[in-house]
Amino acid sequence: MSSMPSGPKRSLNAQLRALSNTALSLLAVLMILLLAFVVMVNAINKRKSDKKSDTTTTTTIAEQSSDPSADVSADVTVPEDTTTEATTEATVPEAHATYPAGTKLIALTFDDGPCENTQQVLDTLEKHGIVATFFMLGQNVSGADQALLQRMVDLKCEIGNHTWSHTILSKVDADQAYEELRKCDEALMAKIGQKATVIRPPQGAGLTNTGLFKYALENREYVINWNDASCPADWQKPALGDAHYTAQHVIDNASEYDCVLLHDSHKSTVESLDEMITGLKEKGYVFVTVSQLLEATSDKIGIEDAKAQGWTEAVEAYPGGPVYGVRYEYSSNKYVFGKKPES
Ligand SMILES: [Zn+2]
Repeated sequence: MSSMPSGPKRSLNAQLRALSNTALSLLAVLMILLLAFVVMVNAINKRKSDKKSDTTTTTTIAEQSSDPSADVSADVTVPEDTTTEATTEATVPEAHATYPAGTKLIALTFDDGPCENTQQVLDTLEKHGIVATFFMLGQNVSGADQALLQRMVDLKCEIGNHTWSHTILSKVDADQAYEELRKCDEALMAKIGQKATVIRPPQGAGLTNTGLFKYALENREYVINWNDASCPADWQKPALGDAHYTAQHVIDNASEYDCVLLHDSHKSTVESLDEMITGLKEKGYVFVTVSQLLEATSDKIGIEDAKAQGWTEAVEAYPGGPVYGVRYEYSSNKYVFGKKPES
């Protein structure tokens, strides 16, 4: 006869079996929870990538915790690794990493300063927690308070080159254009230790001046004009002297990826800013610098698009071709984008 297990031994085996059954059940529950969690995280990521959104860790976590099924993660500690992996994957930058799809970007730009009103512009920008771009004249920079220019930099505003003396670049030769831009940057270097990152030629003119593009290329500065549709033409009536008109014109005519031309030299423009910024915010606009605007739209606007829009002549006019920099065409709202060359 085979020896049968003794009573106590059998009881121990039974206990062990019961214990292992319990452990298996627990493991199964854990596996199901883990599976559910992975499915949930994947679903969230898929939804985000479907929206072509630029998910950050913060937004993913925020969305999870607001999700009722997120309770699962509170009980199970194991899947935290999965969360980390999933969010890391989701944060891989796509074409324009900083702004989720659908963000309405806009860049306010101020030409011809700095001047006695510039401090007030900075006050308003700071009050609203937004940035802008200042296309300044070298001769004004040279005579300005260093602290004013430093405040611009500290507020993360963009520094733009608007030539030394507001020279219309279509009326001068290449060497003169080059020198006008160089002298403006020299003045900026002397005050704040940095050159401009963007150029706007006075009156938007001289886009085919080889001196302008030689300078822009050598110094890696974007060339940009503005969008005529949203421009309140604050140098003349009815905008000049009428802050409310100025603000409303911009609010009513602004569009996504807009570049708005303003002048801090006009008091009424400066006084319009609080109303203008408030109205634009209410319409969902997010304020960026010109470079940020261009870099965010780089995948949308290309040389081929520009040619398709009838810009062949302008594209080919740039001797270094293809076009470097961006040109908002005054009166037509067409623009051309060229990637900034690597330094
Ligand atoms: Zn100007």
